[in-house]
Amino acid sequence: MKEFRAESKKLLDLVVNSIYTNREIFLRELISNASDAIDKRRFMALTDSSLDADFCIELSTDVASRTLTVSDNGVGMSAEELENNLGVIAASGTEAFKKEMKKDGDAELIGRFGVGFYSSFMVADKVTVISRKVGETAAHKWESDGVDGFDICPAERVQVGTSVILHLRADGDEDYSGYLDIRKLESLVKKYSDYIRYPVRAELPKAAGADGVTVGELTTLNSMTPVWKKSKSEQGENEIGDFYKRTFRDYTDPLITVSSRIEGAVNYTALLFVPSEPAFDYYTKDYKRGLQLYCNGVLIMEKCAELVPEYLGFVRGVVDTADLSLNISRETLQEDRRVRAIASGLEKKILGEFQKTLKNDREKYEKLFAAFSKAIKFGAYDNFGANKDKLKDLLLYYSDAGKKLVTFKEYAESLDKDAPMLYACGETVDKIAMQPQLEGARAAGKDVLYFVDPVDEFIARMLESYDGHKFENVASESDGDKAEQSGHEELIARMESRLQGKATVAATDKLKSFPVCLAAKGDISLEMERVMDAMGGGLKAQRILQVNFDHPVIKSLETADDARFDDTVTVLYNEALLAEGYRTEPDFISALNRLIERGIASEAEKADGKKTSAGKPTAAKKPAAKKTAAKSGGDKKQEKPVGSDGSDGAQ
Ligand code: ADP
Repeated sequence: MKEFRAESKKLLDLVVNSIYTNREIFLRELISNASDAIDKRRFMALTDSSLDADFCIELSTDVASRTLTVSDNGVGMSAEELENNLGVIAASGTEAFKKEMKKDGDAELIGRFGVGFYSSFMVADKVTVISRKVGETAAHKWESDGVDGFDICPAERVQVGTSVILHLRADGDEDYSGYLDIRKLESLVKKYSDYIRYPVRAELPKAAGADGVTVGELTTLNSMTPVWKKSKSEQGENEIGDFYKRTFRDYTDPLITVSSRIEGAVNYTALLFVPSEPAFDYYTKDYKRGLQLYCNGVLIMEKCAELVPEYLGFVRGVVDTADLSLNISRETLQEDRRVRAIASGLEKKILGEFQKTLKNDREKYEKLFAAFSKAIKFGAYDNFGANKDKLKDLLLYYSDAGKKLVTFKEYAESLDKDAPMLYACGETVDKIAMQPQLEGARAAGKDVLYFVDPVDEFIARMLESYDGHKFENVASESDGDKAEQSGHEELIARMESRLQGKATVAATDKLKSFPVCLAAKGDISLEMERVMDAMGGGLKAQRILQVNFDHPVIKSLETADDARFDDTVTVLYNEALLAEGYRTEPDFISALNRLIERGIASEAEKADGKKTSAGKPTAAKKPAAKKTAAKSGGDKKQEKPVGSDGSDGAQ
């Protein structure tokens, strides 16, 4: 006997014993596997007609031996494939499966992570698989009790294909005998597998014959009409949602379903889905975008990437067309005029649906945007902005004034003629809300858009303006700021010399409670510099330390001694860096500590002054300063007299 891998064993135990409350779906899983196997053989038959057959899936039961058999005439499996495919549970993502299961233990997860076949052990205590692979004469038998391992040995099978024989569990916690009842199986097929493209047949019991033996009649249980070909009235309850979940391995219903039937230069039917969340591997290299492509009802490609633009890679679905030849190859697909026509039709349809949702169901659109904004924004920026005009009205940004998401259009509508589209960049909404630069805009009653993704500002640059309103970063030096430098030239020069070329200094009127903020001059903004740094360095922003000369801290600089001046400018510059989300510089902490020490010293001196010359606090100012200096005489950094800060003594 070959043992299951340890990992598989644990999962198997979970599958059988805990996850499922809904055991009946094992049948859906087995029928889907059978249908997939037939798809594969049918695809091979396109180039080798000897492989063609009357494709079907058959259900049969044997009450005496308590077995239910699901047979197909699909591709079949070799001994090696039996071992590899059925020996490892959840091959398509054990880790991901475990993670998700811890989260919510949802039954639907099974289909999503490829433990489909193993669901048979929920109803069977032994499963026998007899399979003969296409092109081979020998068949093999795989058998397992679903606990420790499995056996494989040679077997007989007249035709190519696979039979899965379930030895049903004894009744007890559940009525497993029910799965021997063809009528019950029929209702399960109608419920879960109606759209399966191949006939699912079973011998329905008929009236007993003259000799008392029940005569069976082979009947097709499913309608075989693919969901995308059914009209609304023909669809069962949530049939589309079930189809989506099973086909695309999701456990939640799609957020948006788009169906499209086009008759024109190219005829096609499409059924597209926007998942409610990105696939677990969506943002990894492993994710493969694309739609299922059917030609005349035959699945010819599982993921045809040519049918959706990259930025809509999260859209899943099916395209069925009679206009492509069945053996179209990957290479010719790319060039094919009809494929491109379908792709551009679908892109328009999807974006139109997004626009409609934005207009009619804002909440749903915001959900969609929360899940896929990165992809949509990437689309607006990518390819030198080729799609920017198609996508600009689908973007949402948090608005400072409205405290909610708005479109560019909604924002622009509130603007005066020629007023700029103001935006601020930062890591999160909360961090941007605290940026000093926003104060001026708020005081002037102007709204500001929050750009929290690095790509946002690049999109704004690409668009340049919206409805005639230019995009403007609140952290860029705006024209309005230049007026009132005069009178401050000396202080500006002193600060610049202290900053040693790291930034120039300029007066601003956009600050209220903050003394300084950082801005950038010219084409490269601070945010862009950061993005480029993250990509390995590049162009640098021209930094400006913008100064609020009305602020008491700045005013106090006029009378500061050199030591306090230098430390204060260092602290201010680093404060501006911090507010912009930068790291501080190495000398920041020591400068800050020296300023704190001076504060403590001057408080002590105030207290001293109060004690020695009670009632005359102002007179204590100068002498106390000397006293402090004398007290801390051992500390070189404190040698310079303190107390030149007028506010100290006065408070
Ligand atoms: P999944 O179908 O999600 O890949 P399963 O555990 O259901 O996971 O099946 C594992 C693999 O076993 C399938 O991918 C397929 O290669 C193979 N398999 C299962 N059932 C059949 C079948 N009836 N015919 C041929 N191959 C099958």
